[in-house]
Amino acid sequence: MSAAEKVSVSIVIPVYNEEEVLPRLFEELWKTVSCLDRSFEVIFVNDGSRDASLALLLAFRREHGEVRVIDLAANFGQHMAIMAGFDYARGEKIITLDADLQNPPEEIPRLLKEMDDGHDVVGTYRVGRRDPLFRRAASKCVNKITNRIAKLHIQDYGCMLRGYDRRIIDIINESRESTTFIPALAQKFAVDPVEIPVAHRERELGRSKYGLFQLIRLNFDLMTSFSLVPLQLVTMAGMLLSALSFLLLFYMFVRRLVLGVGTWQSFIEQAFEAAQFIVSGITLFSLGIIGEYIGRIYREVSRRPRYAVRRAYGCEEEDRQ
Ligand code: UDP
Ligand code: MG
Repeated sequence: MSAAEKVSVSIVIPVYNEEEVLPRLFEELWKTVSCLDRSFEVIFVNDGSRDASLALLLAFRREHGEVRVIDLAANFGQHMAIMAGFDYARGEKIITLDADLQNPPEEIPRLLKEMDDGHDVVGTYRVGRRDPLFRRAASKCVNKITNRIAKLHIQDYGCMLRGYDRRIIDIINESRESTTFIPALAQKFAVDPVEIPVAHRERELGRSKYGLFQLIRLNFDLMTSFSLVPLQLVTMAGMLLSALSFLLLFYMFVRRLVLGVGTWQSFIEQAFEAAQFIVSGITLFSLGIIGEYIGRIYREVSRRPRYAVRRAYGCEEEDRQ
């Protein structure tokens, strides 16, 4: 298949240290895609795996001409890996999927059906989600807050089994933003999005690549990428707290002056402590949030590429060699 050839569907799968699960993924994925009534390609993006993932992907590619492998030069993160896949995808419709089989590949035809019906973004939400309780609870909060502040309506931001029309992918590819959350970005550009429930499985093989720190980072990224509300909230909170502490001080002052409670010295000490406590809290928090936005501006102005490819197997570069 030449690199310029169009296909009907591209399936993009980010892979980071998934050697345990890949053989089963290949098997289950192939069962589904080989029954699709349309032309397809599967693009695996190896996101700097340090295990045998790349070798497995390349072996799989040797068996199937529809498989292409983008080998990134380092670990750029799940969303950047998917972005890389989007840049190479030739499909009229693009499906993303996790490698770990938590999103069952047999759901792909259902997503395609929705797209055939004219929906340009097909989101999914996991029913009977099989993840640890703390992740499910945290996701619930994040979904609610993000929808509120970003003015979006996505039931499950974390479910990466999704379908996108070519038009959406072109817009995403054009937006050179380097920090982003793909489902939210796509939803912004969608004309007729839909969400369908999908099954979710436990991760039976390999481990989740997201520790607590990565999860906090990812979700913070999501909220600050799509809204300035966190910044505005801090300003409001700062104003509110300052006003409150001023009122408190005023009350303590009146109490001392009119009712004669306590001594002036104890009044001053207490007032000082209260004020300091409040102010330092606000300052720290504000600094963090402002720093977050400055970091984003820095990243945008430095225009660093979103990812770097070591080699793209089955793509133009290789075909020319
Ligand atoms: N992944 C990736 N780069 C990373 C982290 C994860 O490409 O830095 C891939 C991973 O291989 C999997 C998908 O992203 O295909 C989702 O990761 P994981 O299952 O660990 O996330 P969880 O389901 O725990 O949210
Ligand atoms: Mg997973």
